[in-house]
Amino acid sequence: MTVTFADILAARNVIRGVADMTPLVPSPHLTERTGNEVLLKLETMQPTGAFKLRGALNAMAALPDDVEGVTCCSTGNHGQGVAYAARARGLRAVVCMSSLVPRAKVERIEALGAEVHISGASQDEADTESLRLAAEEGLALIPPFDDPRVVAGQGTIGFELIEARPDIATIVVPLSGGGLAGGIALAAKSANPAIRVVGVSMDRGPAMHLSLAAGHPVEVEEVPSLADSLGGGIGSDNRLTLGLCQAHLDDTLLVSEEEIRDAMQALFFEDRLVVEGGGSVGVAALLTGRIADLAGPVAVIVSGRNLDTAEFLKLISGEDLLLGDYLLKGAPYEP
Ligand SMILES: *Cc1c(COP(=O)(O)O)cnc(C)c1O
Repeated sequence: MTVTFADILAARNVIRGVADMTPLVPSPHLTERTGNEVLLKLETMQPTGAFKLRGALNAMAALPDDVEGVTCCSTGNHGQGVAYAARARGLRAVVCMSSLVPRAKVERIEALGAEVHISGASQDEADTESLRLAAEEGLALIPPFDDPRVVAGQGTIGFELIEARPDIATIVVPLSGGGLAGGIALAAKSANPAIRVVGVSMDRGPAMHLSLAAGHPVEVEEVPSLADSLGGGIGSDNRLTLGLCQAHLDDTLLVSEEEIRDAMQALFFEDRLVVEGGGSVGVAALLTGRIADLAGPVAVIVSGRNLDTAEFLKLISGEDLLLGDYLLKGAPYEP
């Protein structure tokens, strides 16, 4: 199973006018802080609030005309992408999720007309349920990351970056299952092999980071995190994204809940952007100064904006937050 640059170009035609050409905006604050020109790729501006619509649309377009409906497992944002794409085609969609998925994301998916199945407290259990539905109800399965069409869809971001700014030297990408980072790295490096691509995960359950270190899929315990959209494993039978990340990612690094909080605050108070935890890890990594040999211009993928508003208001006003049994101490924003 492979993805090629041609697949990404084809995906571009599929998503055109619906999920493409998100803004690439300068961040004067991050430029000053890092001493390198920093640009933010705002996937928060997608109609579903996250990049996953790209992959969902591209996968949906490849289904036969007589398909009965679709199913997927999701940490929330893929489910919204699939629900949106299914509605556009008038198809039934069933989204399988774990109980760790924030209520706000469940409600958005239902509002798009999809059915939601909550099963267990892990992505694995949600995945098992989507496989069951595919087998028993004849629904087409749209995987969240380990699928060539999904990866090609996400990879269109890399193409847009290079087209807008051929001089980009570093791309910093949130990393979970690796569809986003793998697709972007493939697209960007096809155009310019010298580009560095760095994947960033939260330190509480970084499945791809650990799997890359081990050379095979590693299971992680799923715990509540500000970066809920990055939770879950890469699949014990991973077929595509582990290899893609091995081939094309130059580095991976981890950020803490505190560092994600600081990034969400900086994005809000400096860039005036509302970004969910999983979408903020790239900025978090930049702010820590831990990206080795950082060269500019730097493009940071700001991957999503879907969050719990009440929790976000607490976070930006410096109140404590309880993430499962982890107490994230509040801290007011300090420029
Ligand atoms: C899914 C998701 C990611 C990670 O994408 P992968 O392809 O699983 O690595 C990053 N940010 C947000 C907001 C997401 O929803």
